Amino acid sequence: MNDNGVREVIIIGGGPAGYTAALYAARANLHPLVIEGFQWGGQLMITSDVENYPGYPQGTLGPEMMADFRAQAERFGTEFVTDDITKVDFSSHPFQVWVGDEEYRAQAVIVATGATARQLGLESERRCQGKGVSYCAVCDAAFFADRDVVVVGGGDSALEEATFLTKFASRVTLVHRRDGFRASPIMVDRARANPKIDFVLDSVVEEVLEDEQGLVRAVRVRNVKSGETSDIAAEGLFVAIGHDPTTALFRGQLDMDEAGYIVTRGKTTATNVPGVFAAGDVQDHVYRQAVTAAGSGCAAALDAERWLEARKDHARSAVAAPAG
Ligand code: NAP
Repeated sequence: MNDNGVREVIIIGGGPAGYTAALYAARANLHPLVIEGFQWGGQLMITSDVENYPGYPQGTLGPEMMADFRAQAERFGTEFVTDDITKVDFSSHPFQVWVGDEEYRAQAVIVATGATARQLGLESERRCQGKGVSYCAVCDAAFFADRDVVVVGGGDSALEEATFLTKFASRVTLVHRRDGFRASPIMVDRARANPKIDFVLDSVVEEVLEDEQGLVRAVRVRNVKSGETSDIAAEGLFVAIGHDPTTALFRGQLDMDEAGYIVTRGKTTATNVPGVFAAGDVQDHVYRQAVTAAGSGCAAALDAERWLEARKDHARSAVAAPAG
């Protein structure tokens, strides 16, 4: 931080991207401040076992992994504010970020606020998160080898996940609230041709039924046309009804695509505002993995470091060769 209280870099967001950006920025002596959110840790906090993060041959637990990420960033001097940002102003430099009445200023900002998987909004769904309810088939499919699972949704994600899950599960039931699909026809055709997938259409999930250990044992669905309810025996429920990037506070300041994801330039993490970078799921709706988010957090810290260096060089040469 300089004498005017302006930091070199502020990182907004406490998930794999934010903590990795902090680790790299801290080791580059940029003294980062991470405003990590009141509920830090991101999507991995609602995941139990993580078996696809390299370096953990025995697997680990999502919350433990995030605590490790955070501790590693802290070890090199990262500071944290465990609260949510309420406002930003990227229109003038240094950039300003507020947490309530508290104002923070920085030369560079890395936005790593992530995305959230949409939830059905059922109390039983919340209780069973990590106990059979999952929001990521790529992450959790292998835990359901030879078991029956239900997938909810009618977009490309749901159809793709249903097909992917048939590599492991014995039976996949796709539940969708309409009889028409938002997914591309080729994805629907592929799923329809798969003998392991059943379709339950015009139906919504009413409740997740648990066994005595609190694990998913069945999914209760209601046909929206007939009103009839039925239970589908399943040990897993994959909710694939889309994601929402956490970008509301940046609207009008950072360029976004039509789904609200921040647009970054080429292979970099640069946004339309020089000095503001974006990393992780907030700018990636394709891969959405902890490891890809961490990779882009690293890239953002390197991009920010180079940008700050280039700015200093520019200021030095302006002093060395005054105009006129
Ligand atoms: P999406 O296209 O927004 O589809 C969400 C689906 O979930 C819709 O079918 C929607 O039903 C349903 N849904 C939403 N809220 C629901 C609720 N509360 N209860 C029950 N159902 C609900 O999201 P997505 O499938 O994640 O895809 C996001 C983007 O990524 C899309 O542009 C997609 O093309 C792309 N994507 C591409 C690929 C690929 O090309 N390989 C793979 C995955 C995703 P309604 O249809 O009735 O609204």
